[in-house]
Amino acid sequence: MENKFDITTLTNSELKDSIQKLGEKPFRAKQISEWLWQKGASSFDEMTSLSKNLREKLELNFKIPAIKIAQIQKSSDGTMKLAFELVDGEFVESVLIPDRDASTEAPNRATACISTQVGCKLGCAFCATGKMKFRRNLTSYEIFRQVVSLKSLANDNFSVDLSNIVLMGMGEPLLNYDNTLDAIDIITSPKGFAMSPRRITLSTIGVPNAIRKLADEKVRFNLAVSIHTATNLKRSALMPFNKTAPLENLAEAVEYFHEKTGSRVTFEYLILKNFNDSLKDAETFAKFCRIVPCKVNIIDYNPTENSQFEKTTPARLRSFAELLEGKNMIVNVRRSRGDDIAAACGQLANKKNN
Ligand code: SAH
Ligand code: SF4
Repeated sequence: MENKFDITTLTNSELKDSIQKLGEKPFRAKQISEWLWQKGASSFDEMTSLSKNLREKLELNFKIPAIKIAQIQKSSDGTMKLAFELVDGEFVESVLIPDRDASTEAPNRATACISTQVGCKLGCAFCATGKMKFRRNLTSYEIFRQVVSLKSLANDNFSVDLSNIVLMGMGEPLLNYDNTLDAIDIITSPKGFAMSPRRITLSTIGVPNAIRKLADEKVRFNLAVSIHTATNLKRSALMPFNKTAPLENLAEAVEYFHEKTGSRVTFEYLILKNFNDSLKDAETFAKFCRIVPCKVNIIDYNPTENSQFEKTTPARLRSFAELLEGKNMIVNVRRSRGDDIAAACGQLANKKNN
């Protein structure tokens, strides 16, 4: 019984072979694949388009790793946070962020923010995930499965489909490179949701070797790099990983990425009161941004428990953004959403994991 094989780890052709070995027609593999990847079936019993006999044979030979929704929290602004319990009892979180049409107030878009690791090794000073112990990488199935749940939540609650997916939840996606890229492959392939890679954004602290690898693979999804401050001294204080990969190395890798893919890169800037919110900080950041054609996302801080940092004031945030805009840069300010349920992407530490 214990030796049942995890069916989600089979490739399409392996699945076809296995089905034929069970004495079934190969087209059944496609049906099974749809149940697994598009409908997020958690048991063979749910696969009602298959014969009872085949379902029993599958049950005898294979298993589907259990992923349970442990909790759903809804914020007053509509943002929903999901906690998933994984097969080994670890917890991971994802967030669904609905947007409303400005004139009709009806929900017209929804963004899914998903996690790639349980915990994170990199320990950024402002990040709740960074304060947890690193537990493990998520499998590609576990990364993808979050999308399935958020998609049905968006359909059921807001009558919209997912318009965007951001990999900005728990963990550093580029330190779980293969599984993250496999999950994106599934999301963008007909096996999953055939979603355009242009609607997917991977956010990274900036791991130079991995960014070069993405460049060589000519990936087509968007790359967002968390810069947060453009001097090594301050960045190392905020993000210890900067001592391993200082801004110069990161800049070279980002230039290489742009050269190979031709894509505009997003630079993220988490603005913190009296730490990196002065006009001088803005000048230094603007200079850094000149390395490639880019967009800037200024992220408002979502204070975490026992944090040494504070949100900046609206006036300082405005002046910071205006200085960049004055240099013809494309600037977005990401206000925090779902504050009351601690749903900021990157703030997804579940107390159950501690
Ligand atoms: N590890 C990746 C992706 C996950 S964090 C990265 O660091 O980019 C996603 C984004 O959320 C990052 O830009 C991160 O700096 C930011 N973030 C982390 N904690 C935050 C908080 N408390 N408030 C606002 N943004 C936060
Ligand atoms: Fe890890 Fe990103 Fe949090 Fe830093 S901000 S600790 S890299 S998840």
